[in-house]
Amino acid sequence: MKAAVVNQFHEKLEIKEVPIPELEHGEVLVKIKACGVCHTDLHAAHGDWPVKPKLPLIPGHEGVGVIESVGPGVTSLKVGDRVGIPWLYSACGECEYCLSGRETLCQSQQNAGYSVDGGYAEYCKAPAAYVAKVPDNLSFEEVAPIFCAGVTTYKALKVANVAPGEWVAIYGIGGLGHIALQYAKAMGMNVVAVDIQDDKLELAKELGADITINGRNVDPVEAIEQAVGGVHGAVSVAVTKKAFEQAYRSVRRGGSLVVVGLPNDELPIPIFDTVLNGVTVKGSIVGTRKDLQEALDFAARGKVKAIIETQPLDKINEIFDRMVNGQINGRVVLTLE
Ligand code: NAD
Ligand code: ZN
Ligand code: ZN
Repeated sequence: MKAAVVNQFHEKLEIKEVPIPELEHGEVLVKIKACGVCHTDLHAAHGDWPVKPKLPLIPGHEGVGVIESVGPGVTSLKVGDRVGIPWLYSACGECEYCLSGRETLCQSQQNAGYSVDGGYAEYCKAPAAYVAKVPDNLSFEEVAPIFCAGVTTYKALKVANVAPGEWVAIYGIGGLGHIALQYAKAMGMNVVAVDIQDDKLELAKELGADITINGRNVDPVEAIEQAVGGVHGAVSVAVTKKAFEQAYRSVRRGGSLVVVGLPNDELPIPIFDTVLNGVTVKGSIVGTRKDLQEALDFAARGKVKAIIETQPLDKINEIFDRMVNGQINGRVVLTLE
């Protein structure tokens, strides 16, 4: 099968023929039709994080397609079913986190396109228990981004605990952020969208953001203070430390900052302000299988819709270059025949 492979960190991905994965007990083989390109895939290809991915690696954790075959013991899915393979590739099912509905914290989890091969390929295998069915009315291209960008931001907004009618700020209107703001609107929140590029903010306006702020031209913290007196929640999905610091300072008393973007950096937090303002700072990592079902349901009902640009698998290196330079609006989705 054809796949895009990371052989070494910081090197271009190689488009090459590799063997189709062999199924083990409980697994399904998916003929991939589309796979979104997440900034996490770029972090993986660069070896950015303290925990490194396997090498060589086939990235991709927004892979969706049709089940080609099922391994022994699979009863919940059949050949021909339309499914997607998310970042949470598998978890142990037995630890305190798995047992308490917090499986994304499982210390024995595997991650698609990171610790195991993912969706930048013609085929990808996965445990039947962790793939999710694609709603009938959604195309593979449009649903792919829901498998990471969608579920991650939907979950982050739940964690932010902002009530309908209250204000949330989304820092970074990229692949995740442009979907985050749609979930926020669908959940009844008022939205401030912050980015450093005007085209991203124009998209945010079209998608329903109530206020847009270009952090390159004005201080978003002051602008938010003046406009709404601070937000009840802020979600940072940008990849720069500055955005996180600003997001923290945008939050009003009693509010929360949800940390989602993953620059390999630190966020210095003033102790005095955090204590006196009663601010919560919380990390949020993708979402559980239940979160994913809910996130997919929003998409199936037309309440959120990823803005996508489709490209063939061979273009992945150019797409990564554009991502580094912030030249992607919405999500790029790789299509496979
Ligand atoms: P992206 O490149 O599509 O979007 C990043 C956006 O941030 C861009 O629009 C960029 O213009 C904007 N930005 C840059 N500097 C900014 C600043 N100072 N202020 C405001 N905006 C700024 O990336 P993506 O695919 O949306 O991923 C974003 C991050 O989220 C990555 O680090 C990725 O690894 C991480 N991520 C985390 C999770 C999780 O579960 N926590 C899941 C998926 C992705
Ligand atoms: Zn992702
Ligand atoms: Zn577990």
